[in-house]
Amino acid sequence: MTGRRRALGLAFFLLAGTCLWVLCKYVKDWLLVYYVPYYLPCPEFFNMKLPFRQEKLFQPVAQLQYPQPKLLERGISEGTFNPELLKNMYQPLNLTIGVTVFAVGKYTCFIQPFLESAEEFFMRGYQVHYYLFTNDPAAVPRVPLGPGRLLSTIPIQRYSQWEEISMRRMETINRHIAKRAHKEVDYLFCVDVDMVFRNTWGPETLGDLVAAIHPGYFAVPRQQFPYERRQVSSAFVADSEGDFYYSGALFGGRVARVYEFTRACHMAILADKANSIMAVWQEESHLNHYFIWHKPSKLLSPEYLWDDRKPQPQSLKVIRFSSVEKDNNWLRS
Ligand code: UDP
Repeated sequence: MTGRRRALGLAFFLLAGTCLWVLCKYVKDWLLVYYVPYYLPCPEFFNMKLPFRQEKLFQPVAQLQYPQPKLLERGISEGTFNPELLKNMYQPLNLTIGVTVFAVGKYTCFIQPFLESAEEFFMRGYQVHYYLFTNDPAAVPRVPLGPGRLLSTIPIQRYSQWEEISMRRMETINRHIAKRAHKEVDYLFCVDVDMVFRNTWGPETLGDLVAAIHPGYFAVPRQQFPYERRQVSSAFVADSEGDFYYSGALFGGRVARVYEFTRACHMAILADKANSIMAVWQEESHLNHYFIWHKPSKLLSPEYLWDDRKPQPQSLKVIRFSSVEKDNNWLRS
């Protein structure tokens, strides 16, 4: 009797298991993205609801007239904004501006000129929090900071390939916002370290989602932009698409928007990885793909991201932030 019961129980479980398996398979075929959870390690914080700092709205000010922007098609540039007006709007808000910067391996040699120049020109009169990610905290030089300005050094691991170091920034920034930055800053800029500030950089650069035109491609037809052109990559952009070619050396915005943006780029990088492909310009390719579907709300002209190796064109009245000469062979060796 007991043997018969056991056999019946076993048969029942086998039948139930088979039904469940068939049901799962049937439902799965109807879900277009059913395969995603199988190969994407989606960190738990992707779905967290973060208590971001409350958005601070500025009061309208009396003087609302300023010269009509002349170079709007090329983004914010000298003459397209009124610094006095912006100061009156933004200073009462008591904003904190975060800056993420990575210096891994030999790139620590760029920290000092970067920080010194930022102290001279970047968001003077505002609270600034630099988040410096490095594998070598002992190599961070002591740079005197002005009042209301902070530097946090955050240790990170060093990946062996330079492409991996550069691409992993999206993941690291995303995790850092989830853990800390969402409580500490209102806006966040994410920049390369092999850069120096050369002129004032103020609240004219603040916006929901801020991108900068790549200095090499501001006068080039879109077909010549170095977008990722292989369809198998999630950074793919067709010849007929794209407004501008943006640089991966600088992006920013309201911290909640930078969180969404870095999450999307990180997930796209993971999807490419799962398909054994690396986009042609790594995270810059993913950034450009994202900005086609989620247009930046503010565009910075090449004034805000220049390259010292190029002669200054006449149309560029001022250079505010520029990449310095570097020996890639030495840096990446
Ligand atoms: N980076 C780093 N160590 C490396 C490679 C990259 O710290 O070995 C960081 C650093 O902040 C650098 C940024 O990633 O400014 C972008 O890398 P890289 O300058 O090599 O890219 P490029 O701008 O030359 O394409």
